[in-house]
Amino acid sequence: MKPPRILDRWPSPMIRTIWPLDSAAHLRDSMALKIGHLPGYCCICGTLTLFRVDHPNFREHVVCVRCGSRNRQRQVALVLLSCVAGGADKLSALSNIRDIPRQTVIWNAETTRALHQRLGAHLGASYIASEYVDPALKSGERKGGVLHVDMQHTHFENDSLDFILSSDVMEHVPLPLEALRETFRILKPGGCHIFTAPFYQHRFTNETRAALDGQGRATHLRKPWYHDDPIRPEGALVYTIFAPELLCQLEEIGFEPRLCRLYAPFHGILGDNGIVILARKVLEPSHRQDWVFPGESWPLSGVGAEGAAHPPPVVSG
Ligand SMILES: [Zn+2]
Repeated sequence: MKPPRILDRWPSPMIRTIWPLDSAAHLRDSMALKIGHLPGYCCICGTLTLFRVDHPNFREHVVCVRCGSRNRQRQVALVLLSCVAGGADKLSALSNIRDIPRQTVIWNAETTRALHQRLGAHLGASYIASEYVDPALKSGERKGGVLHVDMQHTHFENDSLDFILSSDVMEHVPLPLEALRETFRILKPGGCHIFTAPFYQHRFTNETRAALDGQGRATHLRKPWYHDDPIRPEGALVYTIFAPELLCQLEEIGFEPRLCRLYAPFHGILGDNGIVILARKVLEPSHRQDWVFPGESWPLSGVGAEGAAHPPPVVSG
């Protein structure tokens, strides 16, 4: 008998160790797919509803029969509602868009679909929705009634927004870190950028699939991958697939990031890739705080803060 090859054996348990997968969850998902429907509560339209489960790509489907929202939009909505409620443990199972205080200033980087419609109807003037319409436009200009915003260079004032929502937009931005520095600038302290994007769960580093050359044209570093785009028939090019490295990059910018991994069948959130990034703008990110001696500041006189990170060595004996 041929001995088993080690490489055939180790990847799956290792990945399970890093990203615990609940096999019962898979059973629930496959049963819902078999039945075709799943009863539950939609946090976007705020009703008891049925979710249509007719496609194994749960992330892009699982449609609420009442408002047409999909799994990925409800993931963003649920994380937004947990922020408004003051944390996931304070979130009611029946929370919905109407629970967001009306003066909350939200910029959503999309102008179609159920989440956009419900936020617009509820928040009115404090809700801003945009698309990346045309590179010839400046951020803040309109074309065909649609507001154009380039996420890398927006027209918003410093510290002006409570929440920024982007659902599968960041992977299409040529310089995503520039866009994240920009969202940090325009959020109020305490405000959050909540976003989804394709996310690798099996590796640490982001994957750059395309980059701009000196003339501003896309150079492909991997096979070009286009996503459906409601305003571009040719689709939108994917520049980056993110991975946990993104969390370090968010910390470097000054965000307090959280990787939220959602699985909530009652809310029509199925599948093992319900990943939402929650990036909060804080005055002092916790990675810059001293966790060994909390609350005590080390004297930094005469030295740059970065250079004074290490106290003198302790000599024992
Ligand atoms: Zn709904």
